[in-house]
Amino acid sequence: MNLITGSSLIFFCFSFIVPQVKLSAQTQRKIEFPDLPNYQTLISDLHQHTVFSDGSVWPDIRVKEALFDGVDVIALTEHLEYQPHWEDLPHKDRNRSYELAKEYAKNYDLIVIHGAEITRDLPPGHSNALFIEDANQLVHDDYIETFREAKKQGAFIFWNHPNWIGQNTQGITELSPIHEALMKEGLLHGIEVTNENTFADQALIIANEHELTILGTSDIHELIDWLFDIPGGGHRPVTLVFAKERSELGVKEALFEGRTVAWYQNSLIGQEKYLIPLIESSLVVDTAYYQMYGNKETQIANVVIFNHSDATYLLNNESDFSFYHATEIIELNPQTSTTLSVKTIESLSSFELNFEVLNAIYAKKMHPKIRLEINIKP
Ligand code: ZN
Repeated sequence: MNLITGSSLIFFCFSFIVPQVKLSAQTQRKIEFPDLPNYQTLISDLHQHTVFSDGSVWPDIRVKEALFDGVDVIALTEHLEYQPHWEDLPHKDRNRSYELAKEYAKNYDLIVIHGAEITRDLPPGHSNALFIEDANQLVHDDYIETFREAKKQGAFIFWNHPNWIGQNTQGITELSPIHEALMKEGLLHGIEVTNENTFADQALIIANEHELTILGTSDIHELIDWLFDIPGGGHRPVTLVFAKERSELGVKEALFEGRTVAWYQNSLIGQEKYLIPLIESSLVVDTAYYQMYGNKETQIANVVIFNHSDATYLLNNESDFSFYHATEIIELNPQTSTTLSVKTIESLSSFELNFEVLNAIYAKKMHPKIRLEINIKP
């Protein structure tokens, strides 16, 4: 996006010294989600810009922002066909942004993926090609030649901001015969359901129907802190990638297999089969015991649940029981424990709680459901 706004250039004193990032003061902003039983959860932001296309910063800033945010995987995806800073920054080599970021990141545990943004009118619109070998080879007049060259290089390709009002004033996502043809030829593997500060509801439907990998990205052009109000507690949209190993190959395999969940504002967007284990890994019952009133034991079971994630879980109670201190909607704040007071009517040694998870979505208006097994501490 951001093609028509015209970015202001910020000038940097540039050196090849690896940036010294003070991470200790920034730990509270790190994005954290738990691993799944069989996979590592890697935080990725796979759509970002620098001055090498229409962004306002040098690639080292993108590396520093990622380290501050606890992002594990980034891709700088410069527009192949849109280079508004060209007169000030002539650069023959379209790989330069990636090479600089890779150099800046070399002493950190940050995976930098080589990418580029194919920037065309709709259809096909804008698409990112990741894991490419040479961006220069992607510059062609005919979009299909660009897609085919990207595939030849082994790229994972996804449709960017398919809801963008810059290309569709209704803000809706429509699959065209061109997209159908791209998918048929194996040239389109994923779709952004959230980009920057927008949510593409139809993109989720298309992802489900055509088995496209679900992605969420910042598409950042200026500074992450400004756009997503990080000092005020905001976060960038990211894609949680469930990888067999923490490596570029691990990320690539997971993306091609569709093992992702997008995190946007407070919503988790993805396939039900990945949302459920993510939620179950996030919400862990620490203890449960019956509350005392003086020397009398009540039939109010205090259930202490720890939320090991950065999402605030909004749960709609679908259990047989109601709560003593809460209505039907329960809020579980990030990285902390919450005590639910469950009215079990009689003293039980175990019971289950059932919830609909309102801040997660896997299809139109569909929220996953979870069951928590509660065992009373003897
Ligand atoms: Zn972009």
